[in-house]
Amino acid sequence: MDCINYLIEQKKSLGIAAVAVKRLDQVFCAGFTKDFDLHYGRAGVQLPDYVIRTLKLRRDPLAFFPWARSVVMAAIPFSIIPSAKNFMPKPSSSEYSGYVPGYAARLDYHVFARDILGSLAMGLVKNCSAGGAKYEICSDASPVAERALAASSGLGRIGRNFCVLTQHHGSACLIGEIFTDLELPELEEPRFKPPCRGCDVCVNACTSGALSSPRNFNMARCRSYISMEKRGPLSHNETSILGSWVFGCDECTSCCHPGSMPEKIPVDLEWILMRPAAEVRECIKDTVISHTGVTLLRRNAVGVLANRKSTTQINLIREFASVTSSSMLKTFAESVLREIQP
Ligand code: SF4
Ligand code: SF4
Repeated sequence: MDCINYLIEQKKSLGIAAVAVKRLDQVFCAGFTKDFDLHYGRAGVQLPDYVIRTLKLRRDPLAFFPWARSVVMAAIPFSIIPSAKNFMPKPSSSEYSGYVPGYAARLDYHVFARDILGSLAMGLVKNCSAGGAKYEICSDASPVAERALAASSGLGRIGRNFCVLTQHHGSACLIGEIFTDLELPELEEPRFKPPCRGCDVCVNACTSGALSSPRNFNMARCRSYISMEKRGPLSHNETSILGSWVFGCDECTSCCHPGSMPEKIPVDLEWILMRPAAEVRECIKDTVISHTGVTLLRRNAVGVLANRKSTTQINLIREFASVTSSSMLKTFAESVLREIQP
């Protein structure tokens, strides 16, 4: 079977939403540069340190993988990822509820993408090379400009929510790629129109104000960034941006193609704060929340409770501040208490 037919067949059998191949000597087309600048150059705020450190590598995929000749891009729907076993409990009362996006209660999508793309890559090498081939799999954890590559390879287009839109799943997909030294023929997803309707539903759904029309993204106001990437205590402004989200946020993706994202999940903030850290760690160990860790999850839980400002929640923050062994969490909890009850 030729490589393209193999990829198209595997796309169907593995449940992949979209697949594309780009030759890396062709990657620096106008589309790549435009989408790269849109994502990294016009964010309007300082990018996270780890992005700044790797910006040069992100701008040139061949700088990180000089041996690679082609990249196979894949969009994998979050909906096909299996749920994690023994996830955090649901709240016994609405007073202690916070939310995580549905994908966060499933198996870690980095691991899931590696498994699917690993089997795709092995088959590709078997079908398309006589003497073996080199490949490297990436998904959201390497200095690769994935959205710009996805757009320039024809995998999908970037919407106003700054995510890659695919035809049948909208932006409810994770993006992964296989860099290989195989010289593969190029493949694009069939063009579908319009990839982004320009309807601004995502902009209006973003209650934090991180998105604004027509194409602006303020990372400093994005609760996904604040809850997952921001280290240390949160400022008053950052705390209020969290709203009810204790980890991540999917308001701008779930609204674009309704029903395509797994439903958001309520979790018990009292349990997160008061159970032993090892028990909490055990319940997030197979999920993407494990990368954020228990300490930041607890910081966010304190922030979500502080946003409610009622006596029950204030009492829980006070109790947590008196028992936590983390000086950062103690300082943060005491500072939000001072703000709520000066
Ligand atoms: S919600 Fe509308 S404007 Fe936003 S990305 Fe989807 S189609 Fe585009
Ligand atoms: S993840 Fe949430 S806060 Fe960030 S841009 Fe999307 S809707 Fe706004």
